[in-house]
Amino acid sequence: MAKVDELGRMIADAENIVAFTGAGISTESGIPDFRSPGGIWTKYRPIEFGEFLASAEARRESWRRKFATHETMQQATPNAGHRALARLVAQGKMPAIVTQNIDGLHQASGVPDDKVIELHGNTTYAACLDCCRRYELDWVREIFAVDERLPLCTACGGIVKTATISFGQSMPEAEMQRAQEATLAADLFIVLGSSLVVYPAAGFPILAKRNGSRLVIVNREPTDQDELADLVINAEIGSTMSRAVGVN
Ligand SMILES: [Zn+2]
Repeated sequence: MAKVDELGRMIADAENIVAFTGAGISTESGIPDFRSPGGIWTKYRPIEFGEFLASAEARRESWRRKFATHETMQQATPNAGHRALARLVAQGKMPAIVTQNIDGLHQASGVPDDKVIELHGNTTYAACLDCCRRYELDWVREIFAVDERLPLCTACGGIVKTATISFGQSMPEAEMQRAQEATLAADLFIVLGSSLVVYPAAGFPILAKRNGSRLVIVNREPTDQDELADLVINAEIGSTMSRAVGVN
């Protein structure tokens, strides 16, 4: 409890807070952590980007998996943790949320698109790999429903893929750049629900701390960067953040 109050004071004192969110904030909305024991990526070998490009069967398998988890993803709604961050954004105290999540729940909680920096893309829509034209999943599903036909871009004929960054796909340059700028401007950097093992994303808290920001880690489990942090809270994110920010 005392630690949550301390976080509350740090938030009140800060002027430029950056949140860095991982799977842990979304599991509280019922979205499974794909990397956790028993998660999808421990049951099925991930389809690497090169395979996806090279093989129509890999693309079909990728869409099969996507539509198998689609309903869970669609039904998920933002939780108290997302809402607390949305409040800080609305107050002008949090210019950016850097996220490893691909579920779009920060935007669904009312945070404007331009305040959410998605390092691993977004799985709630698809895009052409060549011209980047956006496609909705319902459109893909209609095509795929007919003998597992693969969607092709109607503008350029390119391959359409969920707008996520796959294993083997390079990190999005613009997002990495924006995340770095946001991190360097922060006076308080709060990690929420990330085990901080996936690089280069996990480099941002280290960068923030080296740059003089205060660093807070809220995660159910200890992380490799706990020693670096000014404050570590091993608890649920929703209750912790709603108390620290003063919202329900
Ligand atoms: Zn295209």
